[in-house]
Amino acid sequence: MEYDIFKHGVTQSLITKFRNCPVATRLYLKGFASGDGMSMPLQFGNDFHDVMEAILPSSSENPYIDVVNSVPSFVNDQEAKPERMETYDSASADNMQMMETSLAMLEPVVKAFFNFHEDLFYGEEGYKIYMDDQGAFLEREFCIDVGAGIPARGKIDGLCEDGNGDLWLLEHKTKSQINEDALLMTVPRDMQVNLYMEAVRQITGKRPKGVLYNVVRRPGLRRKKSETLTDFVNRIKEDIAERPAHYFKMFLVSITEAEHEYQVELINNEMIRFRLWFMKEENLDPQHTHECVGVYGQCPFIKYCNSGKNELELENLVKRPRLFSELDGVQ
Ligand code: SF4
Repeated sequence: MEYDIFKHGVTQSLITKFRNCPVATRLYLKGFASGDGMSMPLQFGNDFHDVMEAILPSSSENPYIDVVNSVPSFVNDQEAKPERMETYDSASADNMQMMETSLAMLEPVVKAFFNFHEDLFYGEEGYKIYMDDQGAFLEREFCIDVGAGIPARGKIDGLCEDGNGDLWLLEHKTKSQINEDALLMTVPRDMQVNLYMEAVRQITGKRPKGVLYNVVRRPGLRRKKSETLTDFVNRIKEDIAERPAHYFKMFLVSITEAEHEYQVELINNEMIRFRLWFMKEENLDPQHTHECVGVYGQCPFIKYCNSGKNELELENLVKRPRLFSELDGVQ
């Protein structure tokens, strides 16, 4: 499948990629793996989202205990899934171990998460998962028009309704560090949050008041050389039990209508910029930035850029088996 800008449009991660480096974006759109699918933070974040999608109640009446009991079967099921390996450039021993460790960490983290936030989702005063004619509003895919001439797509973690009938976007984030002040300052102007709020507004006809930002700290403990996986998981369990508030934070961040509208206008402008750049097929010369050697290692296209964009340098690069996993359902 080739990328078709008018059919596939953009996701917020594609726009972010474009902002970071247009050269890398062009190669990514041609199907090359951009090397950002191989890290524990990303792996654990994806696993956490997958488990939430699988076990958050499909009905707001599902009891808490069903959720907790379904975690082990989710983990076993994921271990058996061959497509999980598609995330990686190779099924190397290191990648296999990273996957195994991430899945093992999920069980104690997710159980403790629901235990910690039991009142929030299941208590009398809690936030109910919003229901519409498609069922529970969880992991909902959207394709909307914000006036840029190409669609904006994405998948919303969830939508909650409070006791007053107001809607709140639900966003899951896994992080190793949680900086509350920085988070509260940046979330109202976050591109993803505002795009997803706009999608909710267009789908339900009602603008959410803001976002229920669920932050889960990824366990920072490392598995010792002589330690079995079971012992490692038990150590994580103990650490979470000792200091649950260190691991789990939930922020309710209101976003005013004026701020939201302004942010949607900025997203629209950025999408127009992307569309014009894509249609022009500009011959952009690479200019090295901090993206070339980032926190997860060096950009896989660095030799290509350094050779003056010699196409031969692309021959040994890995191609992604699927162009975009987010666009699997696009016809
Ligand atoms: S090496 Fe640098 S300039 Fe080249 S594609 Fe990668 S990030 Fe962009």
